[in-house]
Amino acid sequence: MRRKIPRKIERLSDRLFEMAEDPSLLFNDNSERSQALFKMIKSKADGWRKPGRCMYRGCPNLSIANSHSIQRTGPISQLLEKGHVLTPKFWNGGMQLKSVGASDASTFPGFCTRHEAIFLPFERTSSISTDEHVELQTFRTICREIRRKSYDVQQLEELLAYFNDRLESKAKEQTAAQKVEFKSITVQGGVFGKIQEMIDAGKKTVDDLEKLYDLHFDAIDNKVRTRLSGFCIQSNLHFPVALSGLIQHRTSTANHTWIAGVIPQAGGSLIFLAGQPNDQHIINQYMNDVKISVQLIGLVEAWMVLHTDHWFLKPSVWQAIPAHRQDQILTDILDVSKSGLSYEWSIFDDLRRAAMVVPAPVLLGPKEEEIFTIQRAKMN
Ligand SMILES: [Zn+2]
Repeated sequence: MRRKIPRKIERLSDRLFEMAEDPSLLFNDNSERSQALFKMIKSKADGWRKPGRCMYRGCPNLSIANSHSIQRTGPISQLLEKGHVLTPKFWNGGMQLKSVGASDASTFPGFCTRHEAIFLPFERTSSISTDEHVELQTFRTICREIRRKSYDVQQLEELLAYFNDRLESKAKEQTAAQKVEFKSITVQGGVFGKIQEMIDAGKKTVDDLEKLYDLHFDAIDNKVRTRLSGFCIQSNLHFPVALSGLIQHRTSTANHTWIAGVIPQAGGSLIFLAGQPNDQHIINQYMNDVKISVQLIGLVEAWMVLHTDHWFLKPSVWQAIPAHRQDQILTDILDVSKSGLSYEWSIFDDLRRAAMVVPAPVLLGPKEEEIFTIQRAKMN
């Protein structure tokens, strides 16, 4: 005969399962919860600024706290208004564009003083103009993404351990109150399971990025050709954004981890993408759909909204966007289910309008007309 679970134990386990779905129940009240949240956000920000080991392979030195992943002179300084640029930040339960000063934009604890100096060739000229410069910028982007992603994983692991501790002490409290013996508690579902999934996905991305590092390192250390695939173009479009980040391109058969950059410089913007050697044909297919300027604008917007939040935008460009579209863009930045080659709303209205000006004697064909109609609708 099956033994019936006593009602009070059933109620107790229901309450504990509820906590796994809603971690706010792990706290006694709102003030305790806000304090814990504030402490977590502050420790996350402080920890990120702490020097770590230099990311140049084999170097035993400690990094400086603020290596730039996009050089400050040149790209960022072109975008400054009143000394500031805008960057996406998760704040108060939502995404916002926050103002940051030039010296804080795009810094990370990356390299020691000696290895920070390897970037001097293009730091001095404020222009990425040779293959060697591109290899260096690619290296810096990979390093920044490895550090960022590893740090995110570490933070999630600490968060999960913290929730587990809270759950255990709540379970002890409640079992004692019911005079029930407490042994242990393990939760795999609910928020606990979601955090674990994020940790696993983060670790996989770090592995992918480390492979890119391995394939690229010789190009920096021995000045040989990189083994990475990808492309690099100098576009004559002056994108009012500097971006350096991770692209996760999903196809029906696989996920591809790439790094990309948009660097404003004299004459326009340098745009690059790099991935593993056997990704070249997928990158070619990906770029095949980007034939005219407006499609390249859409691609950069897709990188900003659907792939990476590591970018710095000229403030007046954002201020010119109507509020309803700004809200949509911020919501979409948080929506991880979205991916793709193009984004449905416009960020760069002026650039887009200029790219669609057709010189007087030229008549558009039906295909171009169709593309332009789609492009105009993005500015609603
Ligand atoms: Zn070093």
